[in-house]
Amino acid sequence: MKIGILKETQKGEKRVSLSPNIAKQLIAKGFTVIVEESAGEASSYKDENFTEVGANIEKRGVVFKEADVLIKINPFDEEDLKLVDKSHVLISQLYHKSNPKLIKAIAAKGASAFSMDAMPRISRAQDMDVLSSQNNLAGYKAVILGAYEMTKIFPLMMTAAGTITPSKVLIYGVGVAGLQAIATAKRLGAVVEATDIRSETKEQAESLGAKFISVDNQGEQSEGGYATEASEDYVRKQKEAVNKSLFQADLVITTANIPGRKAPTLITKEQVEQMKNGAVIIDLAAAQGGNCELSKLNETVFVNGVKVIGTTIAPESVSTNASELYAKNIYNFLVHLTEDAKFNWDLEEEITDETLIIKEGTIRKN
Ligand code: NAD
Repeated sequence: MKIGILKETQKGEKRVSLSPNIAKQLIAKGFTVIVEESAGEASSYKDENFTEVGANIEKRGVVFKEADVLIKINPFDEEDLKLVDKSHVLISQLYHKSNPKLIKAIAAKGASAFSMDAMPRISRAQDMDVLSSQNNLAGYKAVILGAYEMTKIFPLMMTAAGTITPSKVLIYGVGVAGLQAIATAKRLGAVVEATDIRSETKEQAESLGAKFISVDNQGEQSEGGYATEASEDYVRKQKEAVNKSLFQADLVITTANIPGRKAPTLITKEQVEQMKNGAVIIDLAAAQGGNCELSKLNETVFVNGVKVIGTTIAPESVSTNASELYAKNIYNFLVHLTEDAKFNWDLEEEITDETLIIKEGTIRKN
């Protein structure tokens, strides 16, 4: 089976869906790997790093022509689809629920398509879960960005010129990104507090050294390990429980999401106005509508001395690690779908069933 690795074309994207290290592992499994020329350049992988491990470097048109499977990180776009035909199996993140036009366009080509972001959150799928592998890095990078944007340092420092007290960091949402943000902020010496609608996260946050802010959440639900939308009552109680910490925080990182829905609004304009002068909010949910009422995607908004930064913290800012982890997820997924380097799908099996969005031109999942 020939695997084609396409260069990402989305603006600002620096990642690539395969690293030389993982290309080597796929080749050892019997796959042929064809990489579009300069696909890995922005992740610090040169074409020769791929050829050294036995992959072929080809021009874009040749990759589409020769490969059986085409792999990307970002959804396939109109330009890609001009070169896709019914012989192809596409693998990328497709965000199929919010991208019906794209799904119809792929189906019209007669191709099959798997979506990595539709991976079920079950234990045996963990090593194929691209949302986790990338969100983990985003949690780390959010703290680094916050440290850069703040006018204070994180740790306690006792110097001859006086003592600097540690910064206070508050994290909303203790999922994959939030947990890594807690760990990173703690390592840098901050005093960290965190809150989440799912009460099972208390123990996880505390195990990393954060103080958990509990909200009386009787009646709130989570489904399959994910949060569901909070009730008005919970929103009010959350504000009461968290406000004291919010108004004292130097850095606030928000990561709260509800799968398939707009991100919940957790910090209103009124609350921002009561925050400390010089405080920074990094809103990692900005692309899903934002956890802070004031955030704007890829913009910094100043309100009353508070900096509100709406970002996706693109894992592309750590593209070498992000590519390597995405590539390992892809490797595990391909191994899952194949036998002796040939597809051997079992549509009765949950991972395959959930991720196969289009099968030979027929849309299976909406
Ligand atoms: P996510 O990105 O969907 O949300 C981030 C966090 O925001 C979640 O912890 C959620 O509970 C929280 N949140 C939502 N609404 C909130 C509100 N109103 N107030 C406060 N917090 C709110 O979640 P995620 O990071 O993808 O992880 C969700 C869960 O799934 C975690 O328990 C994680 O360990 C688990 N997980 C399992 C697997 C697997 O088993 N394969 C893979 C990844 C994640």
